[in-house]
Amino acid sequence: MSRLVVENLSIRFGGLLAVEDVSFSVEPGEIFAVIGPNGAGKSTVFNLISRLYEPSGGAIRYGDADLLRYRAHQITGLGVARTFQNIELFENATVLDNLLVGRHHRMRRNLLREMIFPPAQRREEHDARLKVEQVIDLLDLAHLRYERIRDLPYGARKNVEIARALCSEPSLLLLDEPASGLNHEETDDLAFWLEDIRADLGVTLVMVEHDMGLVNRMADRVLALHNGRVLALGSPEEVRGHPAVQEAYLGG
Ligand code: ADP
Ligand code: MG
Repeated sequence: MSRLVVENLSIRFGGLLAVEDVSFSVEPGEIFAVIGPNGAGKSTVFNLISRLYEPSGGAIRYGDADLLRYRAHQITGLGVARTFQNIELFENATVLDNLLVGRHHRMRRNLLREMIFPPAQRREEHDARLKVEQVIDLLDLAHLRYERIRDLPYGARKNVEIARALCSEPSLLLLDEPASGLNHEETDDLAFWLEDIRADLGVTLVMVEHDMGLVNRMADRVLALHNGRVLALGSPEEVRGHPAVQEAYLGG
């Protein structure tokens, strides 16, 4: 079980310091929420952790791994998966195929080994199917298995995006606004699924979320960002009651 440690992280886009000197750590098994007004730098922090952006300064470690030594496509192999604020799925493919693609991100392609030792390849395919079926079960997607993404309602797509990330068997999952666009009932379902993901799969969850009801209900700890900087870090109650947070939300 690994800890995520972010230290003095910064990134500059031209004249804009989008993230400035941000430090926090996430304990194994924790549900950790990141809140803040639009433009606070929340998605940018996720893009930095998943190595899509190169920081101007700072450190990011996951367990023993120095993430800055890895490229974006290698991050999944370290057990870190994510979803995007704007859903990124193959629109014309079925739910099942999207999940199998999510799984293949993890599989080590080794053509020579596949030629010399086909059973190992079949074993990997078999394991992939098993994992995908476990995720389908967990997220109640069985009835949607052969539907194309483009035919699904928005809430179901968001669910498939989480499912796809889980198929890579992450130990840490970054969720960018999982409840945005969901109605009350769908948000309730999401809360149960996230608890299952933590409890049954042992996945540590970091979520950017605007729905404060969901954050207060689920998060062990909350990080509040504003203009790229840390405003407050603590329990949901502590962060909610923090004067700087109230100022940013109500005063600003
Ligand atoms: P949010 O907290 O709403 O997720 P973001 O992290 O998306 O905020 O953005 C933080 C700031 O960084 C915004 O001002 C945004 O315009 C800027 N930003 C994010 N990504 C880029 C980029 N690739 N190039 C330039 N500016 C960016
Ligand atoms: Mg964002």
